[in-house]
Amino acid sequence: MKAPLFDYRLARTPEEAFELLSGTEGDARVIAGGQSLVASLNLRLSAPDLLVDIGRIAAWKGITRTERGLLIGALTTHAEIEHSSLAAERVHLLAAAAPFIAHPGIRNAGTIGGSSCLADPAAEWPACLVALGAEMILESPAGERVVPARAFFRDVYETALEPGEILTAIEIPAQEPGEVHVFDEFARRPGDFAMAGLALAARFDGPRIASLKLGFLGLGPTPLGAETFAASCIGMTVDEAGAAAAGALAEELEPAEDHHASADYRLRLAEVLTRRLLSRAAERAETA
Ligand SMILES: Cc1cc2nc3c(=O)[nH]c(=O)nc-3n(C[C@H](O)[C@H](O)[C@H](O)COP(=O)(O)OP(=O)(O)OC[C@H]3O[C@@H](n4cnc5c(N)ncnc54)[C@H](O)[C@@H]3O)c2cc1C
Repeated sequence: MKAPLFDYRLARTPEEAFELLSGTEGDARVIAGGQSLVASLNLRLSAPDLLVDIGRIAAWKGITRTERGLLIGALTTHAEIEHSSLAAERVHLLAAAAPFIAHPGIRNAGTIGGSSCLADPAAEWPACLVALGAEMILESPAGERVVPARAFFRDVYETALEPGEILTAIEIPAQEPGEVHVFDEFARRPGDFAMAGLALAARFDGPRIASLKLGFLGLGPTPLGAETFAASCIGMTVDEAGAAAAGALAEELEPAEDHHASADYRLRLAEVLTRRLLSRAAERAETA
């Protein structure tokens, strides 16, 4: 199939992007890396009247160090984050998760902002952002709003973005001293969207868990933090927390059945990932 007819305008500055978005009466959409939107146009799942290309706006690209952690421009590509030494040093989870996103060709063009705004429940970045308590910076001609990642992802392919708003940057808190970041997922083939995945950040006090942050993907309509389970693990050993995961995660995760996996199978993957990543994090903490 071919895409339906649409107008296309290239925005070179933020002002131009907002002007173009608000200046049309029909359905205007921004396009960033085009790695999801172009496929959805070709499948005729989207039919915007106007595409505003924001992909060349320099102000919304790049990774900078902030007092709190990292500020990542929404137009920064998956590959730029994957290969950034600053990102790896300040928030190791990003370097750990990036290689799981699609294939190198897609990572070279797709952006963290595009992935966040698409809000695919099986995407890697949203799970990392929820686990780490990131903040999404949304701009429009009316001003700026800062929305916590947990509130930004509202449902399958649904976010807190209002019409006319653009996600311009994401602020991610830095890794705490002694905190270990690990990521893993189960996919049918390398590069496919995962059936289930987990972003995990933990600190240890000897053999016991001192802090735990989780971000599950593919286990609900949005990335899920399973905060009650994570809080209950404080003071436990890795083995105790792994054993508790079996019943506790079923209370908080919302896996769905599709042609790849049943809901029960996904839940089982979540338990295995939790045990596996807790052990991996504890080993890394010991050798750090
Ligand atoms: C074969 C294949 C496999 C893939 N596998 C994975 C995978 O394993 N994991 C994964 O996470 N992703 C995967 N993807 C998706 C890929 O990561 C995309 O790059 C990403 O989801 C969208 O980013 P983009 O910059 O290309 O956005 P686009 O395709 O340009 O846009 C996507 C949507 O977001 C909106 N949008 C984009 N940027 C903004 C912004 N700054 N503000 C407001 N709205 C915005 C657009 O209007 C559009 O609705 C895969 C894609 C393909 C084609």
